[in-house]
Amino acid sequence: MKVPFLDLSLQHQALREPALAALTATYDATRFCLGKDVEDFEQTFASTLGYPRALAMNSGTAPLHVACMIAGFGPGDEVITAPFTFISSAWGINYVGATPVFADVEEGTFNLDPEKLAAAITPRTKGIIIVHLFGQPARMDEIMALARQHNLFVIEDCAQAVGARYRGTPVGTIGDVGTFSFYPTKNLGGCGEGGALVSRREEIHTQARHIRVHGSDRRYYHDIVGGNFRMDGFQGALLNVKLPHLAGWTARRQAIAARYLAEITLADVRLPEQPGYGKSVFHQFTVRHPQRDALREHLAKHEVGTDLIYPVPLHLQKCYAYLGRGPGSFPISEKIASTCVSLPIFPELTDAQVGQVISSVNAF
Ligand SMILES: *Cc1c(COP(=O)(O)O)cnc(C)c1O
Repeated sequence: MKVPFLDLSLQHQALREPALAALTATYDATRFCLGKDVEDFEQTFASTLGYPRALAMNSGTAPLHVACMIAGFGPGDEVITAPFTFISSAWGINYVGATPVFADVEEGTFNLDPEKLAAAITPRTKGIIIVHLFGQPARMDEIMALARQHNLFVIEDCAQAVGARYRGTPVGTIGDVGTFSFYPTKNLGGCGEGGALVSRREEIHTQARHIRVHGSDRRYYHDIVGGNFRMDGFQGALLNVKLPHLAGWTARRQAIAARYLAEITLADVRLPEQPGYGKSVFHQFTVRHPQRDALREHLAKHEVGTDLIYPVPLHLQKCYAYLGRGPGSFPISEKIASTCVSLPIFPELTDAQVGQVISSVNAF
């Protein structure tokens, strides 16, 4: 039996009829940019997940960019983020001319280590971009205490953590801004590009709303410098079809993870830690093994798909060579990148497939 790492066709075949009906309605109404479908999505997204309000945008990178504009980061400013994440977590810092500074992560949760974060703060530090990687909330109490102490703007990159809660509070509403991605492979994936920005601070929400449409509140009057960060009407319509399923999909991801955690018994395998302050929504289930490459080959022979997320930490990417942080700068991130492997965890996996992943890992 084949166990693909990810198969998006199952979910999209199941929702084909309502999705195409929604697209047709949006097409006939010519609601192409923002509009009612997007507004409906923003409201339901905010109300079902516990965000005060939400702004839909045209990717998950967009709200990170907008958040960096609102934070006022600029040349000479340092903004700290984790080196073990998707590159997009850091792009916004570059887009506004500021300097990305990395602080290493914890081995157990893959998230920013508050002690390393504290050590990376300098008089030039203006903000932090926290990533709730793989769906696991980061240690927000310690991080927010540091942010208050040093007067830092906090952006939560929740691209992989939609619906996750930290001590009962939805991620994205603890810092100043929270950002989401609806890239097709995410827990709530659109059929194309999409993202959202949330903030418990109303003035930030208003500013982001204006930046999204070329810095304007009234058409052809531009009070602040903005851009085009609008979500398409079609994307809003499709996300409205998908959003009601998110809770069930998340529960299924958590059930699969619970089996992996309980039943994977291979010696030397390191399973993701499950801290009490926040339950993961398991965008990925990433394990570590000293013979990672051999394990991947073994799983491929057993028809189990895996992926390597992420093979190279940000400080070792060519684009960040100019920062001058070579190998050895962030040893935990480097160690994780060379030993991690992600197992299949999408909601449509059958119990038999999950069983096959477990028995194949244990047979290594
Ligand atoms: C997916 C992702 C983003 C945003 O990606 P887009 O492709 O622009 O939607 C940002 N940060 C992380 C950690 C991600 O996984």
